[in-house]
Amino acid sequence: MMSNNEQDLLKADTSEMPIVLDPEAEKQEILKRYRALLRACKPNIEKGERKLIRKAFDLALEAHKDMRRKTGEPYIFHPIAVATIVAQEIGLGGISIVCALLHDVVEDTHYTLDDIERLFNPKVAGIVDGLTKISGVFDHKSSQQAENFRKMLLTLSDDVRVILIKIADRLHNMRTLGSMAKDKQLKIASETAYLYAPLAHRLGLYSIKTELDDLALKYTEPDVFRTIATKLQQSKRDREKFIQEFTRPLREELDQEGFAYEVKGRPKSINSIWIKMKKQQVSFEEVYDLFAIRIIIDTPYEREKADCWKVYSIVTDHFTPNPDRLRDWISTPKANGYESLHTTVMSREGKWVEVQIRTRRMDEIAEKGYAAHWKYKESNQESALDEWIGRIRELLENPESNALDFMDDFKLNLFSDEIFVFTPTGDIRTLPAGSTVLDFAYEIHSDIGSRCIGAKINHRLVALSHVLRSGDQVEILTSAKQEPKDDWLGHAVTAKAKSKIKAALKEEKRRIAERGKDLFEKRMRLLRLNGVPYNVNELLLFYKVSNLTDFYHRIGLEAIDLRNLKDFFTQKATGQLSLPEKSDRQNFEELVRNIRGKSDMLVIGEGIDKIEYKLSPCCNPIPGDDVFGFITLDEGIKIHRTNCPNAIQLMSNYAYRIVKARWFGQQQIAFLVGIRITGMDDMGVVSNITKVISSELKVNIRSLNIESTDGLFEGTIMLFVHDTEHLKTLTKKLEKLPGILSVSRIDTAA
Ligand code: MN
Repeated sequence: MMSNNEQDLLKADTSEMPIVLDPEAEKQEILKRYRALLRACKPNIEKGERKLIRKAFDLALEAHKDMRRKTGEPYIFHPIAVATIVAQEIGLGGISIVCALLHDVVEDTHYTLDDIERLFNPKVAGIVDGLTKISGVFDHKSSQQAENFRKMLLTLSDDVRVILIKIADRLHNMRTLGSMAKDKQLKIASETAYLYAPLAHRLGLYSIKTELDDLALKYTEPDVFRTIATKLQQSKRDREKFIQEFTRPLREELDQEGFAYEVKGRPKSINSIWIKMKKQQVSFEEVYDLFAIRIIIDTPYEREKADCWKVYSIVTDHFTPNPDRLRDWISTPKANGYESLHTTVMSREGKWVEVQIRTRRMDEIAEKGYAAHWKYKESNQESALDEWIGRIRELLENPESNALDFMDDFKLNLFSDEIFVFTPTGDIRTLPAGSTVLDFAYEIHSDIGSRCIGAKINHRLVALSHVLRSGDQVEILTSAKQEPKDDWLGHAVTAKAKSKIKAALKEEKRRIAERGKDLFEKRMRLLRLNGVPYNVNELLLFYKVSNLTDFYHRIGLEAIDLRNLKDFFTQKATGQLSLPEKSDRQNFEELVRNIRGKSDMLVIGEGIDKIEYKLSPCCNPIPGDDVFGFITLDEGIKIHRTNCPNAIQLMSNYAYRIVKARWFGQQQIAFLVGIRITGMDDMGVVSNITKVISSELKVNIRSLNIESTDGLFEGTIMLFVHDTEHLKTLTKKLEKLPGILSVSRIDTAA
């Protein structure tokens, strides 16, 4: 069985300790590992293949003889380990084991592809060639946009075994990552989370996917990883006791019914616990489904379905099931081949517990992917493998899903709050979802940010406010003349970019204010007023500004006319200077009167050119919503929805500043609105949703985030609609899509 439980992951890497053995002991160790490999591949290989494996081992041993890994170990340990994973954990046959042993030979030693072809056969040479090329694509500075990535997978892996061996290679490298330098660890770990784990998932290699994710987390978030792993371990005994108690009546009845079965308590992976903690904003203790109970039955193929349902009925005889949480992936398996029956039931302690019911065959396929199929087929192994390879090619070639959908599927389970984008040289940068070109520019360097005028994404020019998607490769365009603008604050998401922009704007304001101060002093001298005493506050009130910096700043911007500076002194001398509070209040009330106008109703969208209004971001009103206007001192009128969370407070405290409002003729303008969708996780769901939104209803999507766990997904979509009617039509259409559970509008902007 696989070794990916929390204890193994907590163990220090053996690779951190250099292994010093004398040459004879080392030779013994190599042979020991090789013999273990042979035992592991015994069930998968055919007659004659053993010889070929021996030959590959001898060649690899000879080719790598002077090489050592970072740990100090002989290099050959690595190909042996990769071949063992290929045989034992993926379940591949002889050819793959041979290729795994040879996978680094052409890349790292003086042997050529011709040598491999001569010594083995064209098939082996082809796979080794693929492995050599694919390492360049994955590990070096090439473009990794979605389309390129898919093409690469298709062209470099005529044989899917290339990808599988590459995954095994990565798994072993991750297991021994401890001996690498810190920056390498981070790069390899994030690449693993971004590319390899989703790829393994896509191919149905569930155990490997889980282990890759956990190992990636161990290096990207070491503290988080350690905390969760420790807590899992500490709660282990309680958990086991609970499982024991919970399953006792089930085991008794399963025995009575004569089932051959195994009952396991499967803790959630550390990474998925972490995802849940982040997503639901809860602590470790509050994650209620830390584990699932798995009942695996041994039953002949023809009786599988009936027996699984029989077990289901035993489970639900003893515990009440949650009808919303029944998942039948036996009648319709998941696209990656997953078959299982899941139900969530209420335990005696009042806790929900997920129970997974499946057969031994289903369990092996779930853990190892389609490669486990051959064991259960009459046909020979090669043809079962071919069938599997065919399935994978189908997934990769699926014309329904374009390159971006493909990437969507890829990140579906992983990243809802983060995106991964690439620099022109192929380095990965992580940014929060919703990040723009501007955020990326500041992420690279604050000078690049300040000089940013836009970017090229996939050779297309985009504005600096353009929202980035995972997989984009971004080339920032700069100009020496550019400088940060006020509205940039609205185009940046990251704290880093925002604070840099604010600092630059502040600096700019200070410079202008300095110029304004000079102008003011010059004017005072010109009027021969320097030295004449005056009250600064009175001066500020005269010009209706709140502080001295603003005063100088506005002078610098020439927004304040200093020609009437003389008036201030004359009015002051003659006692005409009006009381500012009163005048402000008067102005404001005048404004309110003006706004209320004749009809006592603000008509949004009609020629109200003199009145500035803004749609309040707290409730994001769109035409058709019941709204009211709220008069603000400096931003004109803000439009809120009447059911805005702030409305009651505004209405009760500032009733006199409330203006009735209604909509008029907004058909041409599009408004940003957020909707939340939940449903069953299914291959086509993302493309169905986007199809309805963009092609059928011609609505523009600004951002789309989908996250899925345990077969359910939750998506947040920001899109542009004309009005509530438009939104209603869209919601109805989406609700009708197969697999959609709910569609709702998000009330507050996140
Ligand atoms: Mn390797």
